This record gives sequence, structure tokens and C-alpha cells, in this order.
Amino acid sequence: MSDFSKPYTAKEHEDRIYERWMESGYFTPENLPDAKNRKPFTMILPPPNATGTLHIGHAVMLAIQDTLIRFWRMRGRKTLWLPGADHAAIATQEKVEKELYKKEKKTRHDLGREEFLHRVDAFVEESRSTIKTQIRKMGCSLDWTREAFTMDAQRSLAVRTAFVRMYDAGLIYRGHRIVNWDPKLQTTVSDDEIEWMEEKTPFYYLKYGPFTIGTARPETKFGDKYVVMHPDDERYKQYKHGQTIDLEWIGGPITATVIKDRAIDPEFGTGVMTITPWHDTADFDIAERHKLNKEQIIDLQGKLLPIAGAFAGEHVTKARPKIVEKLKEKGLIEKVDENYIHRIAIDSRGGGTIEPQILEQWFISVSAKLWSVSSNEETTLKEMMQRVVENGQITILPKRFEKIYFHWINNLRDWCISRQLWYGHRIPVWYCVACGKNAKNEQDLQKCTRPIVSIEDLTACPHCGGAIRQDPDTLDTWFSSGLWTFSTLGYPEKTNDLEQYHPTDVLETGYDILFFWVARMILMTGFLLGDIPFHTVYLHGLVRDAQGRKMSKSLGNIIDPLTMSEKYGADATRLSLLIGNAPGNDLKMSEDKIRGYRNFANKIWNASRFVITNTEEFSPATTEKINLTLRDKKILADVERLSKEITKDIENFRLYLAAEKTYHYFWHTFADNIIEEAKPRLKGTDTADKTSAERMLYETLITLLKLLHPFMPFVTEAVWEKVPNNKDSLLMVEKWPV
Ligand SMILES: [Zn+2]
Repeated sequence: MSDFSKPYTAKEHEDRIYERWMESGYFTPENLPDAKNRKPFTMILPPPNATGTLHIGHAVMLAIQDTLIRFWRMRGRKTLWLPGADHAAIATQEKVEKELYKKEKKTRHDLGREEFLHRVDAFVEESRSTIKTQIRKMGCSLDWTREAFTMDAQRSLAVRTAFVRMYDAGLIYRGHRIVNWDPKLQTTVSDDEIEWMEEKTPFYYLKYGPFTIGTARPETKFGDKYVVMHPDDERYKQYKHGQTIDLEWIGGPITATVIKDRAIDPEFGTGVMTITPWHDTADFDIAERHKLNKEQIIDLQGKLLPIAGAFAGEHVTKARPKIVEKLKEKGLIEKVDENYIHRIAIDSRGGGTIEPQILEQWFISVSAKLWSVSSNEETTLKEMMQRVVENGQITILPKRFEKIYFHWINNLRDWCISRQLWYGHRIPVWYCVACGKNAKNEQDLQKCTRPIVSIEDLTACPHCGGAIRQDPDTLDTWFSSGLWTFSTLGYPEKTNDLEQYHPTDVLETGYDILFFWVARMILMTGFLLGDIPFHTVYLHGLVRDAQGRKMSKSLGNIIDPLTMSEKYGADATRLSLLIGNAPGNDLKMSEDKIRGYRNFANKIWNASRFVITNTEEFSPATTEKINLTLRDKKILADVERLSKEITKDIENFRLYLAAEKTYHYFWHTFADNIIEEAKPRLKGTDTADKTSAERMLYETLITLLKLLHPFMPFVTEAVWEKVPNNKDSLLMVEKWPV
């Protein structure tokens, strides 16, 4: 045990105290005192990427969640906070590929799939322990005995079971759809993983027969043979839908067809455009509506196809100026706007520029009809996702995010779940190769040519015994994260854990992954369990620097939570992430703020020392017999009122208020006034007044330590050890003072 006479040094206590907590076993709910009579309270930790290191965004999430779980543990609940890690397919594969190229000048193809995956596993294994150690440094009371990983055996079984069940229900299908293609990483990317960047680029007005069309991308225009305008646009009323027009185009004469569609904005450019359905989502929709041909112009490497004539085989960025040159020569350029701002889609994970492509992929249908067991009616996944928030089964905090959620659901398209990556859950679908030869009858042949979907690994065709090959693609990472609240509790088995701890109570996460993750969990749980994954979604804001700027390497304003904890203690770091952090609003952070709370930790230590050394002969049993003066009674009543307020605030997710009130009361009322005013009384000769002051100080301190514990667990536990008779007890499982 450390010296109480010196100032508080977080470093001397934090690791030691975390060890004591671990040894107690209380992070595991079943080990809590009187566990049988406690009502469960569950949170699942949003799994950080297995290859990541702890950054300030994680730290804010950990501070909030650990505060909540410690509060509910002290309130007498059977608290489970379950940790895990995410394999983060795209990010991880990209990291390993980069390393491989840097060190050995090799690509994943040089190694082959199996060897490459061995490398990824080794890399992940190493990084996982890093992030785990870092999470512990923050003081998180997670049940490490239940630790999960999105790629471990149990979670893989959950993923395959989910896939097969959704496939059997007709929700998973394979189809040609326009997807976001990253030519750099050679994979599809989901809509939410795209970052938009603005770029100044020339905008060309091209002569297209009797029309003028505008484009920022002339290199995609080779195949354009449909000219589209709004049906109500008076300027073009002499042209009829379906009418054809012969005109001179980039590669020579073509026949264009007029299409009238309400998606066209008459205000934009000339109100007329040509479409490139293969490489543009909006154009794809127009082509689908009117059943138009779709032609591929650019291949998966980003090079032009033979349709581009002389430019075939050239990369689009290189071909563009040459194509512009040719258009000029042919007199097809009417004018150029040099100051056009063009939005470019970037793969936020891999960094490649997105080129939409039509590809055959696996999808989850969000609008296919299915039977809902829970509501006993026909429904769709989309309706299901909407209903549980609409009817209040799930509350999203702050409330304004519910509106954003509904808006997103309304615009939801089918979810493309296949990725052309090697790292991830391989799609559990096999194709029979040799079936034709072995088929005994027409029915057998039919079976064999259809995909074979299986939970178990297959080595031969179950219908004909012939050779099979597995679909080479892997599943979108969010497919496995979507199952997270129940795959971590033992699904697909009907385990005790699942029965007891699901639905979870709170999902706490950043508002930036509301759609990535939260919505997908609602979708998966709704279909697979006929239930909700959680009752409350609590969204915290992003952490910014003191000037409100995003933290980034290039700005040099990153605050590393581990360095800060090393310097000022995890308690100070946690408190700086809680105070001022209103739900859904961004939080301003600075080193000064953390330093200030380090001083607060020291204030707690010093004030506590004073009280404890002056009340050494006290125990809860003896204090109750001491009569209190009126003034002391009033102080204790005030503290009780404060406790009630703090309790209400935490219950209603106003952690920022609860933390701030406790902080102010301890420092400015308890330390600055109450203790100072009591000092002469403790030295006085009036014994009754002296013991009353002692009882008041003792009881106030005990209550304040409990109120502070969820926010600043280390320093409060370190003080608790100093309270006489507390040597073997832990503050973390003490009763909450209300
Ligand atoms: Zn077969």
C-alpha cells in the first residue's frame, strides 16, 4: 500500500488497482455478491478494429460505457459488459498488403490465398493484444472471460447460420446491380463507406445532335446513346419519348433515342443529359425504369474497353485529355466551364477513387416480403427496421437522430454484402463443377447448377458427389458486426447467456456509425431473433481539438489518450472526456483540460486524507450513534439531494451534468467550504460538536467517493483502501448511495 502523506500519483496506483479488480472476479456478473437476486444490465462493447491502437474516439466511448456499467453495478444490477474485436476486413487486408509490399516487394497474389491469410492472422493476433492492454489502461470493467472476436469459431458459426437462414427465406440473392467499385483495392465498397471530396474540374458542354449536354467526365461518354429530359420541359416539347435521332458522336455516327424521365432536373445545365448506366447510379435507375441497354465502358482496372476505339486499353485519367482533344477537333465542344466543382467518391477505407460498375454480387433484399413471427403479419426488413424505433421499442438518444434514422431507412437500397477481399468470412456458397456428367436425371442437374448454401464446409457436391468450388468472395464486415449483440452471447445455440442478457440495455457508440452498424444490428436481430438488439441507443459526439477542428495527423493536433493517461492518469483523461460531452454534440478537448482534472484527482486524495486521518476510529456502525448538530444534518441532507440528482442524471444519460456536479460539489463545496469550516471544530473542546463534525465529514466523504467512482474509478478506489475497515472491500461493488 502506498504512502498517504504524498501527493496522488496515478502511476503508482492504476495498474495495481486494475489487478485487484481482476482478481476479485467482479467483472464477470455471476461472481457479483448476491448475483442470483440481481437483475441483468447488459452492454456490448462496440468492437474496436483488431489491428488498431486506442485513439481518442475509443477513449470517449470507453469512458462513457465504463461509467454506465460501474453505476449500474453499484445500483445492484447483474452487470455484463462484453468485450471483443472486429476483424475489419478492408482495413486489415490493406495494412497487411502494404507491409508485404514494403518489406518483400510481393502482392497477395504472389503468396496465394492460404499463405496470405496466415500472414493476416499472425498480424491480427499481435495487434489484438495491444488494443486489449490499452483498454485495460483506461480502467474498463469488462468481462474478459467472455471476450469475442468477429472471426473466431463461434462467431463464424453465427455468420454462416445467419447467411443460410436469410438465403432460405429468400432475403439473400445474387444479382447484377450497380455497386461502388474500388479499382485500387479491387473490391466493392458499401455506400456508407464512401467519402465525398470536392475537386475543381473543367465542365464540358458538348454538341449532341440538336442538343447540348454537359459533363465533367467526357471519357465515359462513348456509349451514350440515350438523351434524357424532363417530360414537362417546354424547351424540348417537340421531341417525343422513344424518338430516334441520327447524330455525329466521338467515335462516329450513332443513333440516339430520346427518353423522358422525371428524375432530370431542368435547372441543371441545359436540362438535357445523356446517360452512362454502367457507371452511374442515377443513370442506372433511369435505364432500369425504361429497360434500356447498359454498356460497360471502363474495366475493373479503370481502363477503357474496346467501345472506346482508339482509346481502348488506356487508363481513364490518362485518356481524358486526349479525348477532349479529339472532341475539339471534331467541333463537338461548345464551351468549357473551368470552375466547376465536381464531387468525387473515395473509398474511405482503402483510399481508391470509386468507379461505379455493374457486377454480379450477393445482396440482402430490404423490400422482399417475409412473414414476421413477432407481429404476425407480412412485412419487409425495411418496415421492420422502421417499426421498432417508431413504436418506441428502441429509443435513439439524442432524439433528433431518430429523424435522421428514418430518412436513411426510407432511402435504403438492397445491401450488397459480397466483397472481393480474401480476409473475412468466406461466403458459404459452393458451385458444383462436375454435376453435368454425373447427373442421373433432369432434376439432379437442376439441383447441381444452383448454388449450394451450407453451414458446414463442403468438399463434394451433396447431390451428385462431384467436385465443387466455393464462392471466392467474402462478406461485408458489417454482416458479422450486425450479429454482434447476440453472436457474442452464443447464437445460434439457445444459451443461458442469450436468454438472460439479450436484448441488451444500452448500445453506446459514435453517431458516425448509426447506419453502418446500429441499423444493421436492428435488421439482423429483427429477422434472426424476431427481437430488438437493445433498448436504448446512446450516441456520443466526435472529439475535436480546442478550436473545434477534427483531429488529424496533418494538423498535428491529435491527443493520444494513452500518453495523456501516462502523464495525468486515466481518471483525469476519463473525466475530461465526460465533462462537456452532451449526447450527439462534438466535444472540445485539450491537454490543459486533462491537466486540470489531474489536479482534481490530487484534490480528492488530499481532502480524503484530511478526513480519514481525523476520523480513524470511525466505522459505519459507531457513527450512527453520534448526534448531529442542525448544521451538520443540513449538510448531509444536501449531499443526499445531490446523490438523488446525480442518480437521475446518469439514469437519463446526462453523464456530462452528473460528472460536472459531482466535481464542483467535491472541490468547491466539500473541500473549500465544509472541510475548512470544520477544521476549528475538530480542534475544539466541545466534544459533542467535535464528534458531530467528524460524523458529518466521514459520511459526506463516503458518499462522494461512491458518487465519483464511476467517473474516476482509480483514485476513488485508492482512497477507499485508506478508509479504516475497508482494506478487504472494493468500492466498485459498494452500494450506490441512493
Ligand atoms: Zn453436383
